[in-house]
Amino acid sequence: MLSLNETHAPNLKSWIATANDGKTDFPIQNLPFAVFRRAGSSDQFAIGVAIGDQILNLRKVANTGALDLGDQNILSAIKSEKLNELMSLGAKSWSTLRKALSQGLREGSAAEGQLKSCLFPMDEAEYTVPCTIPDYTDFYASVYHATNIGALFRPDNPLLPNYKWIPIGYHGRSSSIGVSGQTFPRPKGQTKTPDAETPSFGPCKRLDFELEMGILVGPGTELGDSVSIDQAEEHVFGMCLFNDWSARDIQAWEYQPLGPFLAKNFASTMSPWIVTMEALAPYRTSFAHPADDPQPMEYLASEQNSKSGGLDINLDVLIQTEKMKSEEQAPHSLATSNMKYSYWTVAQMVTHHTVGGCNLNPGDLMATGTMSGPDATEACAMIELTKGGKEPITLPNGESRTFIEDGDTIVITGHCEREGAVRIGFGSSVGTVIAARNS
Ligand code: MN
Repeated sequence: MLSLNETHAPNLKSWIATANDGKTDFPIQNLPFAVFRRAGSSDQFAIGVAIGDQILNLRKVANTGALDLGDQNILSAIKSEKLNELMSLGAKSWSTLRKALSQGLREGSAAEGQLKSCLFPMDEAEYTVPCTIPDYTDFYASVYHATNIGALFRPDNPLLPNYKWIPIGYHGRSSSIGVSGQTFPRPKGQTKTPDAETPSFGPCKRLDFELEMGILVGPGTELGDSVSIDQAEEHVFGMCLFNDWSARDIQAWEYQPLGPFLAKNFASTMSPWIVTMEALAPYRTSFAHPADDPQPMEYLASEQNSKSGGLDINLDVLIQTEKMKSEEQAPHSLATSNMKYSYWTVAQMVTHHTVGGCNLNPGDLMATGTMSGPDATEACAMIELTKGGKEPITLPNGESRTFIEDGDTIVITGHCEREGAVRIGFGSSVGTVIAARNS
């Protein structure tokens, strides 16, 4: 587990004033990575690091020699158009880069003059999916979500007996993962209401979001290898926000016996910024299953995982309807939650994924599953918030919603706060559904 070092010092300030206001997601203690270019341009994408309201272009940093990285592999990786090469280098290289960035961006740095020429205003940027994602897996790590949704799909048998033993997941589809700003057409498919004799075909009527976190894999593993729980996070580059859009009516008809298929593969929206595990070090929490629950099997347990396997990350999901946009009303919060509610830690999910010998590759994405908390206000999908569509939500402007309608935008944000540490954030994942295509 990564320990605190000089890059986390709460008194560190940047020569970029907007990084120091205590409210920004991107103080000098964060330094997350994205891939960006000037919005609307056909410029080559570059890796960037967020600092206040600016983005530091790492290709420019490498080309100007503004930072002494002393490592050709890092220099080559940060000139790339994707994060995969940097992801493959491992925690020691990421830490070297973080320290150099921190030193260059802090007040009094001799590199200020050179680094200034590598800055780009964040509000003029557009992003792309920051890495090639070879494989995508979605877990189901909130026991509250699993219980709530299980009760809707199987009232007599909500939580299946394997849940408290296995980090449950399914292999998803990476081709349809987009980045914040994504707009996608409402999916079509087969649905069947319980009282209908036969299924019908058409646009999804029960479109939902799922507030999740994404885990980005760093160095891969060889086929046949298993990663021990205490080494699992050595294979994790960082985390992002993730909206796993879901078509509940399609899901209800197709999900047995093999699990989600077309209900989940039409779009997923990640945040552009990847916050590294090193940046998250001040926000670790202890982790335990309730004493009355089955305790994790040996390969999923360690002293380190119990001591600091959890993460305290505040999450918020908001809606902005087409009408709200036209009347310039800000997005409205539907639910808040926290990654600390996860029934399985990041390390347990990674370890379980490899225990049978499945290999990982740099850039693989594992999502946590809908991160609902114990309270009704912490339900992180419409199907939970509206009790399966039976209890509509009334928005401040008088509109109501059971599920997501055409023109609606869903915004997910996340941040970490703790006494003695500087607040850091994840930026946002913003996604919008439009009408289904006719053909
Ligand atoms: Mn999901």
